[in-house]
Amino acid sequence: TTKHLAQSEKMNVAGQLAAGIAHEIRNPLTSLKGFLQLMEAGVDVDGQYFKIMKEEIEKMETITSELLYISKPQPHHRKTVSLAELLADVCTLMRSQANMHEIDIRLTTDTDPSDIECAPSQMKQVFINLIKNAIEEMEDGGVVQVQLQQTETETIVEVQDEGPGIPEKIKEKIHEPFFTTKENGTGLGLMITDQIIKEHYGHLTIKDAPVKGTIIRVTLPNHSG
Ligand code: ADP
Ligand code: MG
Repeated sequence: TTKHLAQSEKMNVAGQLAAGIAHEIRNPLTSLKGFLQLMEAGVDVDGQYFKIMKEEIEKMETITSELLYISKPQPHHRKTVSLAELLADVCTLMRSQANMHEIDIRLTTDTDPSDIECAPSQMKQVFINLIKNAIEEMEDGGVVQVQLQQTETETIVEVQDEGPGIPEKIKEKIHEPFFTTKENGTGLGLMITDQIIKEHYGHLTIKDAPVKGTIIRVTLPNHSG
């Protein structure tokens, strides 16, 4: 897929997406068709086949639900919300997944940060994606630090993990649709995240954590005009 996309650098994002989708969906479809043909031919299929078939279907399910998210007309249901509360909700949500991997999610916020205007469900999606990525990089457990800070003009949220960090040579690629280093990744998370942040007139910066891991920083204007 990555090679495939590299060839299509001149394509626009929609074109890249379409090419990626076709590719990502075709592979599981081909394998499903193959298994069905085996069954049709009366080959004795064991449980292993069903397991693979289910995994292929689940992969397509994940891709399509993430795509639906992108393609949904994005009515800007902006509300004035407490980002501190929103982050607390997201952290609670993600703790069930984190606990299974011996990961502690710690949230710290400046005292009494003022509310910001945003589309809350989209903003939740941003932090779900970032915390999910953090968790997925920490196979041996550890701490995910989520930090909310505010200046006069900006609200800043940092998500810091203790994973292996992002190798220099893939830093350029991680925002591309379908770029993933994970066996069951979709490579859509950061792309969606970027899009939502941009729609909120913010930006995302990525840097190496001082000792080990990655810091993803989301900067949002306090007032988006
Ligand atoms: P996915 O999680 O499905 O792979 P993403 O768009 O969320 O897709 O991420 C793309 C890739 O960026 C990941 O596969 C991984 O290689 C890299 N990445 C993202 N976040 C981190 C992180 N916190 N630490 C290390 N690598 C990361
Ligand atoms: Mg992801």
